[in-house]
Amino acid sequence: MSESIKKVVIAGGGTAGWMAAAALSKLMGSQLEITLVESESIGTIGVGEATIPTLVFFHRLLGIDEAEFLRETQGTYKLGIRFENWRDVGKDYTHAFGVTGKDCWACGFQHFWLRGRKMGIAGDFGEYCLERRAAEEHKFTHLPKIGLNYAFHLDASRYAAYLRKFSEKFGVKRVEGKIDLVQLHPENGFIRGLKLDSGQVIDGDFFIDCTGMRAMLIEKALHTGFESWSHWLPCDSAVAVQTEAVEEPVPFTRSIARESAWQWRIPLQTRVGNGLVYASSYQSDESACEQLLENVEGNTLIEPRLIKFQTGRRRKQWHKNCLAVGLSSGFLEPLESTSIHLIQQNIVRFLRFFPQSEIHQCEVDEFNRQCEFDMDRIRDFIILHYKVTDRSDTEFWRHCSQMEVPDSLAAKIDMFRETGHVFREANELFVDSWQQVMLGQGLEPERYHPLVDSMSEHELTEFLQHIRTNVDNTVAKLHGHNEYLKGYLSGAIVPPR
Ligand code: FAD
Repeated sequence: MSESIKKVVIAGGGTAGWMAAAALSKLMGSQLEITLVESESIGTIGVGEATIPTLVFFHRLLGIDEAEFLRETQGTYKLGIRFENWRDVGKDYTHAFGVTGKDCWACGFQHFWLRGRKMGIAGDFGEYCLERRAAEEHKFTHLPKIGLNYAFHLDASRYAAYLRKFSEKFGVKRVEGKIDLVQLHPENGFIRGLKLDSGQVIDGDFFIDCTGMRAMLIEKALHTGFESWSHWLPCDSAVAVQTEAVEEPVPFTRSIARESAWQWRIPLQTRVGNGLVYASSYQSDESACEQLLENVEGNTLIEPRLIKFQTGRRRKQWHKNCLAVGLSSGFLEPLESTSIHLIQQNIVRFLRFFPQSEIHQCEVDEFNRQCEFDMDRIRDFIILHYKVTDRSDTEFWRHCSQMEVPDSLAAKIDMFRETGHVFREANELFVDSWQQVMLGQGLEPERYHPLVDSMSEHELTEFLQHIRTNVDNTVAKLHGHNEYLKGYLSGAIVPPR
């Protein structure tokens, strides 16, 4: 491929397709001709409603108005995920966004907390985390300089519709139609065009595959290959249903572990997204559907929807003149709400690597290496929840706690158990989260850093108490989540800059 990229074609109009269209048109629209093809008859997956804080930055990059976005998507705020019954039946913890306690130059806060715990002067680990305490009290307020880390719950269909309006304003042309054939250049195998069922051909210089699990371009046409992770993540199915809200939305997602599955609850302004993720080798579709319906609150708004998936990663996210974004690029189950984050990562990374003239293989290789690193680390973090558990009440949980895990994860678990350390690799996504989840799942380190012993008992007590008091004082000043949301959306509350 020797010419510069002018015509970009996005195949698919789900969350991935419209996020790609929004970013490309807003940030490079004046240099590109962007077309998006989607098929209403095929539709979108219709789930994907919990996010992590990186979405706040994506929206800022695009200049998206937060209040408008929340109004249009029935959105609410999210401060973390409450994991119920994951460590054991009846034992809960929250993985909150943000940092717990205060690290020092030599070691993380968990070392101080561990000694405090031994001495009987420390509370729960989460008591030293502002976001966790605010979530627990159902509170939310924008604090200056993102002093309170947050993400959103959103309605996926409305989000795609919102981004469609946004993208069309910046010149994206939408074509309705079903892609029947992906045409390749006979000499180099690059994609030349997409032939629709109407006979129309959409040609382009670069193609973004957002066709979801069908992966029409990256896999069906380019045969890039797939690395399966199902031996580490046994869940391969989900059933999802929406219900009417019966209470005010809480600022956190709920993840409730069941006998051989887990259930999500995502509170929007007027409805709740519910789903059960399960392993079909341990639970039938019928029983999963029954279990979900038995455990939702409020009237159902749609028929339960069954979704089958394969966990793993496309071997290359970028291949020839095609980039995979969203479900076409691979899938990790939604336990930590990371898929929308990975969509934005692929888009923003692609913009950073955007070829000046021709595509250089060295750039493609580096792009793929970075994507691989990101996904592998997130995969490890998700496996951690299944592997480190005291649950042994069902065959499913016994299998999970005994299964082999990737060497990279095994090393991280051993390090934490033996020394209390967690080291961030390169710029992997999760940092403080590792401590929160490892402790929450019941992995207690055998030692803490010796430096902590240089503090007197009095100093350590003061140090821990000071952090807890600061957290408590800040939480006391926050608004109730629902009250804040209403005030912010009506314009009655204006957040600090
Ligand atoms: P889709 O929504 O499937 O869109 C595919 C698009 O391609 C559609 O527009 C379709 O019409 C079009 N298309 C397909 N084939 C053709 C064709 N031949 N011709 C024309 N158009 C075509 N992510 C999160 O971040 N948080 C969550 O809480 C979360 N929960 C999830 C729960 C479950 C059970 C699952 C399975 C996923 C979840 N995800 C979550 C992932 C999230 O749903 C996806 O990452 C996100 O919706 C993006 O999907 P997509 O746009 O890639 O695919």
